[in-house]
Amino acid sequence: MTEPSTSEQVLRGIPVSLGIEIGPAFVIQEEGFHLPTLAIDPSEVDGELERLDKAWETTIEQIKGMRESQGEGERQLFDDILEIHLMLANDIPIYIGSRVEELVRGKLLPVETAFHQALNELLERLSKSPLQRSEDVADIGDQVLRNLVGRDAAQFDEIEAPVIVVAEDLSPSMTVRLPKDKVLAFATTRGSRSSHTAIMARSLEIPAVVGLADLVDHVTEGDLIIIDGDRGQAILRPTPETVSRFNRLREAARQRVEAQVHLRELQAETRDGYVIHVQANIELPEEVEAVIEHGGHGIGLYRSEFLFLNRDDLPNEEEQFLAYRAVVEAVAPDPVTLRTLDIGGDKFLSSLRTPREMNPFMGWRAIRFCLQQPEIFHTQLRAILRASAFGNLSIMFPMISEIRELALASEALERVREELRREGEPFNELMEVGAMIEVPSAALVIEGLAPMVDFFSIGTNDLIQYTLAVDRGNERTAYLYDPLHPGVLRLIKEIVEKAHSFGKRVCMCGEMAGEIEFTLILVGLMLDEVSMSPISIPTIKRLIRSISLEDAVPVAEEALRMTDPSEIRSFLRSKTLELAPWTVDYLPAEAVSASA
Ligand code: PEP
Ligand code: MG
Repeated sequence: MTEPSTSEQVLRGIPVSLGIEIGPAFVIQEEGFHLPTLAIDPSEVDGELERLDKAWETTIEQIKGMRESQGEGERQLFDDILEIHLMLANDIPIYIGSRVEELVRGKLLPVETAFHQALNELLERLSKSPLQRSEDVADIGDQVLRNLVGRDAAQFDEIEAPVIVVAEDLSPSMTVRLPKDKVLAFATTRGSRSSHTAIMARSLEIPAVVGLADLVDHVTEGDLIIIDGDRGQAILRPTPETVSRFNRLREAARQRVEAQVHLRELQAETRDGYVIHVQANIELPEEVEAVIEHGGHGIGLYRSEFLFLNRDDLPNEEEQFLAYRAVVEAVAPDPVTLRTLDIGGDKFLSSLRTPREMNPFMGWRAIRFCLQQPEIFHTQLRAILRASAFGNLSIMFPMISEIRELALASEALERVREELRREGEPFNELMEVGAMIEVPSAALVIEGLAPMVDFFSIGTNDLIQYTLAVDRGNERTAYLYDPLHPGVLRLIKEIVEKAHSFGKRVCMCGEMAGEIEFTLILVGLMLDEVSMSPISIPTIKRLIRSISLEDAVPVAEEALRMTDPSEIRSFLRSKTLELAPWTVDYLPAEAVSASA
């Protein structure tokens, strides 16, 4: 734990969502909750300590209750763990009880804050002892805190004035709950550009910086912070001069955005007439407004799983149908590509207890989950097909890794078509079907997949992590996560060429599609569509309109002959600047973009 400083301090991290914001810090602890810091009244001391006693009682009941929920087979194993946990639940208060009382009575700290501090001190001591059971202690402490603070961990409803959210990490389901009108920006210790949390920040148009080492240790609740999502830095406790400088930078950025508003209605057509459809990615129906505002010609990726997060039940067919139909109608006549449930990885259903996995991104995720949960899949397919009667809707399956998997998904879809026909329920018989290419093994068997689909959509966020064996959400290995790795570029080329040879169109809906440093090579590789966060659309359109296919194809060919990602990056940067000098204000600085 680092001692918090009181003077200006600059922390560098990974810029994930553009924009500059200045405001007071609202700190969410590692365990996902916000601890109150306002001193309590002396008359509240006894009541606070009683709350802690109650939280312990509840925790002990919960531990006992968990035993009952185990099957016969697991009981024996569980009994051993249960015994240890019950023992610890009785012992921990002996170790920290007086310290908690001292902090509550002496310093008038709210009991959850006092408990958190005392528990951390105990964990610190345990980490130095050879007989530690610190993981179990931390687990139980976490459970007690949850019982004290309330089950719904991150207490965003406590936010009153606009704040900068500071956290170790934010899960996609927490991010989606951020109150947009009260959260100016966020900063986290963990994360990377293509984590779902970063993607959400861009969708919500909330400036964000992640991968800020030791952030939470350096910040005290209420500290003034500047989040610079353009350059990837957080300035803690800035001086008045720094605040004025960043206010000027923010104004300049706002003017740049305004200067591109006129592009909204224009097509993304190269100077020699090659049209690339520029579409938007959305997570929730509310985002459609931003798509239209930023000039997206349809939705290339509708991440339907967000309708399933943060709730105790599964959305039924009618609810899904209404949500999908609303999006389709709002965007019509432009197209909407809806992706079937991509759950697992870093997105979990609170309504369904799924087993913990060692490698969730490699595990029970996306189409694998749906094929093994036929009822959930069936309900969603019915809702999607029914919504197809109301506009230009297509469907795509995520994380296809083998031909048989796509065949099974297509069969399931066909069975639902037959069912709806029998019921006389209207749907679009010609609704297009696509497969996401996010796994290298799928990229290498395009010829086997092509006969079953109308289009492919390259999900580079996953394709890169699976090709390079680099976790897309880990800030420590973020330097290896490079869309310009020659292996990734060759796969993209292979996918496009093979798909085109079967007459199938290819979209790219991973984050790579929305970054202007890659646009030139993506045009040169002849993608048909690109789909991105709405906020990126104007700049990408402007760049496509500034270049010609005649320039882009040889650039792609030359880049593909290179073997070093940093050489490819410099080459693309200089070619982009040569063909579209205005990009100098938009391209990431060379030092930031180099793989370091
Ligand atoms: C991708 O993997 O590139 C993609 C678009 O899907 P997601 O980011 O939701 O995994
Ligand atoms: Mg994906």
